[in-house]
Amino acid sequence: MSKPAVMWFRQDLRLADNAALHRAAEAGPLICLYVLDDVTPGVWAWGGASRWWLHKSLVQLTERLARFKTPLILRRGAADKVIADVLRESGAASLHFTRDYAPWAGALEKRIKDAAEAENVACHRYGGFLLHEPEAIRTGQNEPYKVFTPFSRACFAVGDPRAPRPAPRNITPSSGHIHSDRLEDWRLSPRHPDWSTGFADWSPGEEGARRRLESFIADALADYADGRDRPDLERTSRLSPHLHWGEISPVQCWTALRSAMAAAHGRLDRPGEKFLSELLWREFSCHLLHHWPDLPDKAFQAKFDDFPWRHDPKALTAWQRGETGYPIVDAGLRELWTTGYMHNRVRMIAASFLIKDLLIDWRAGEKWFWDTLLDADIANNAASWQWVAGSGADAAPYFRIFNPVLQGEKFDPQGDYVRKWCPELRDLPNAVLHRPWEHETDVKGYPARIVDHAAARDRALLALKSLGRSGA
Ligand SMILES: Cc1cc2nc3c(=O)[nH]c(=O)nc-3n(C[C@H](O)[C@H](O)[C@H](O)COP(=O)(O)OP(=O)(O)OC[C@H]3O[C@@H](n4cnc5c(N)ncnc54)[C@H](O)[C@@H]3O)c2cc1C
Repeated sequence: MSKPAVMWFRQDLRLADNAALHRAAEAGPLICLYVLDDVTPGVWAWGGASRWWLHKSLVQLTERLARFKTPLILRRGAADKVIADVLRESGAASLHFTRDYAPWAGALEKRIKDAAEAENVACHRYGGFLLHEPEAIRTGQNEPYKVFTPFSRACFAVGDPRAPRPAPRNITPSSGHIHSDRLEDWRLSPRHPDWSTGFADWSPGEEGARRRLESFIADALADYADGRDRPDLERTSRLSPHLHWGEISPVQCWTALRSAMAAAHGRLDRPGEKFLSELLWREFSCHLLHHWPDLPDKAFQAKFDDFPWRHDPKALTAWQRGETGYPIVDAGLRELWTTGYMHNRVRMIAASFLIKDLLIDWRAGEKWFWDTLLDADIANNAASWQWVAGSGADAAPYFRIFNPVLQGEKFDPQGDYVRKWCPELRDLPNAVLHRPWEHETDVKGYPARIVDHAAARDRALLALKSLGRSGA
């Protein structure tokens, strides 16, 4: 009997289009392993919403593997230590895994590889989380990209990816016994209190991801280019948590989009290209994180290091709870708390409000999102917060300060989104819905504005301009 191969699942919780699984299944009788590692990432261990998703996704993966009579072994601890234990206990001849791009991942993967090879275990790392490895896309000067548009042009120039691989047809489980933790004992889902009841619309797992992609293409893609900025209309794919956990690969998404575009003979070209370019924003965030691993913790532009952020826990709490008195901001933060998701346009408005109206450090918002977003992703989250802050690589200019009233009126024109999440405002006429302080009488139960936007904007511009002048 040949020695087993270990497949270490990470953010690739799928059977289809998974090169690591494919090759591991060919290499020998298979041991499938997931390691809950709260040690190596330090402060970036999975947040609460992510843990909820992970629990459900592991249940789904376990069920899919059970069709091949293959258990998913669950272990907890520092991944390098756990993997060394599993390799030793199983006598495996090879280890297979998909590459990760978190700041600590490269060093972790190297430690694992060195330790495995020292024990004569072949260690194989595969791509799959991205369309393009961060080293593969370089400027003409052989540098990493810092600006999205040329980066995306370079990605498009590479051409479409290879066809996605189907799930393995056969998996032979290893016959040896390997201890597994019980998923319930990891207590990933909240209990007392259970704040996850609003997550019910999500279907974590490979099957849910596939259905989500199909329904997006069938029902929403045609209007994506125009509708994607409207939080009141469900015109985006909501694939982000599925992509984050690798329940679907970007290659599968890209290929499905290209097929739909081809079948529509040009009618879907504009929205399709727009969607593909959003997938490239995801690639760009990872590209930045890989080349600048400090991105989640440190301003990309050094001149922001000394920015005079305000310490204002009361205002931060009001923002987190959706009690700022600005309806579009509050609706977004309440949507986030309830459903684990916030529409992209509203993420930008809410982030701009925290950073520029309240002058609170973007890292406080980044942390809140990390804990509450189901799609919390170290690369996308950090790159997006820095983009809004103006401190990032390809950032919004410092003087772009979203006006939450005008943004609300433009992107939620009938007020459906705000009425859904701020029911106190339900009966207000549209004319004042996004500026309730102009209503002739006080609105019962809805908070007063915590800052006046015009004054806050002036304050922010002053602080940001002085930053520019310092020329640091
Ligand atoms: C302050 C802030 C924080 C954010 N934090 C995260 C995060 O933690 N995780 C996350 O996945 N996205 C994050 N985003 C990006 C974006 O808001 C979400 O990816 C998007 O809203 C997900 O919804 P969707 O799947 O319906 O998007 P769609 O519009 O359907 O886009 C398809 C896919 O493209 C990718 N994508 C779309 N927009 C972006 C973007 N601006 N940057 C990077 N990738 C993008 C996502 O993988 C998304 O699933 C953040 C944006 C902001 C402004």
